[in-house]
Amino acid sequence: MNNFKYHQPKSLQDASSLMQQHNNNALLFAGGTDALGLIKNNIITPGNLVNLKLIKGLNEIKYTPGKEIKIGALVNLVDIAGHSVIREKFAVLAEAANNIASPQFRNVATIGGNLCQRPRCFYFRGDFHCIRKGGNLCYAAAGENKYHCIVGGDPCYIIHPSDSAVALLALDAKFSIYSDRKLKIVSAWDFFILPSIDPTKENILKPGEILESIIIPEPDNGSKSKYIKFMEREVFDFAVVSVAAVVKKSGGKIVKGRVAFGGVAPKPWQIDILNKSLAGLSTGEEGIAAFSKKFFNDATPLEKNAYKIPLVRNLLKRILIDLTV
Ligand SMILES: Cc1cc2nc3c(=O)[nH]c(=O)nc-3n(C[C@H](O)[C@H](O)[C@H](O)COP(=O)(O)OP(=O)(O)OC[C@H]3O[C@@H](n4cnc5c(N)ncnc54)[C@H](O)[C@@H]3O)c2cc1C
Repeated sequence: MNNFKYHQPKSLQDASSLMQQHNNNALLFAGGTDALGLIKNNIITPGNLVNLKLIKGLNEIKYTPGKEIKIGALVNLVDIAGHSVIREKFAVLAEAANNIASPQFRNVATIGGNLCQRPRCFYFRGDFHCIRKGGNLCYAAAGENKYHCIVGGDPCYIIHPSDSAVALLALDAKFSIYSDRKLKIVSAWDFFILPSIDPTKENILKPGEILESIIIPEPDNGSKSKYIKFMEREVFDFAVVSVAAVVKKSGGKIVKGRVAFGGVAPKPWQIDILNKSLAGLSTGEEGIAAFSKKFFNDATPLEKNAYKIPLVRNLLKRILIDLTV
């Protein structure tokens, strides 16, 4: 583990200035559950850690009834999973948060850190100078790729590991980013990037930019939401494939819905045509089963992960049935 300087700024401006000052030699530090693992294993060797935890207000949740909920980037996952309003009105997020790692992790890990965590690909985490570390090759492409992506991969086939990101995409959340003394708002979809844009990054944050909060519009009255996470082990594990959905139905038909997927792409994934065509879909089991088979025809699985196509279609079917039938 390399030596580093530990900074404890008290404002976003100071944190941002420190990050800019040290440019590529600094790392933001929240709960530390991912950051410390990366440093201990020499995956990254930042000379400076910029702790965010003394910045006031970043650990608050503010609910405006009928409008939105704003969750500060430093709110711990345990507080999201247990928050009464989130459980009632944004259930998909509470369920996703409650399914992340173990209670010990959820007690210290923050939502901001969960969204900005690095991929779990064992080539990236291992002793390989892969394309995500600035090398030329994605070793998973022709190597061990059982857990890698089936869409959006080229030239690096990671999957994005965050469960909360999938729920937030289904909820059509917006991310507030501190940038150059101002806050700018981007959609959850636009926050994450594909490797074709930059294979060394998972999101749009530039040096000095900090995720400040997440703003989630309140779903329509009568909407229901859910998160299903398929794991290889029941105890705790990253998702092999996951699906999040927010659906409103009326009189045997879906009126409006949004679905997002995890474990299939290098960013939390959505399919615009799927979301559009949910409106008007009959809620009977047969119709939903047929609907679910229409998607992921354009997937390009690697040698060992074609099983994810029927898996993701079945999870889509299951979540729509659970939420409507
Ligand atoms: C054994 C294990 C099991 C896990 N299982 C799961 C799982 O099932 N599902 C899942 O989703 N995750 C899982 N994780 C990942 C875990 O949830 C993350 O490590 C955690 O959420 C990161 O939050 P943190 O506050 O500790 O972030 P840190 O470790 O402090 O930071 C993580 C990254 O985010 C950056 N960062 C932190 N805050 C901000 C911010 N506000 N703005 C910009 N960048 C920021 C840091 O610079 C760093 O790169 C697991 C991790 C482990 C070790």
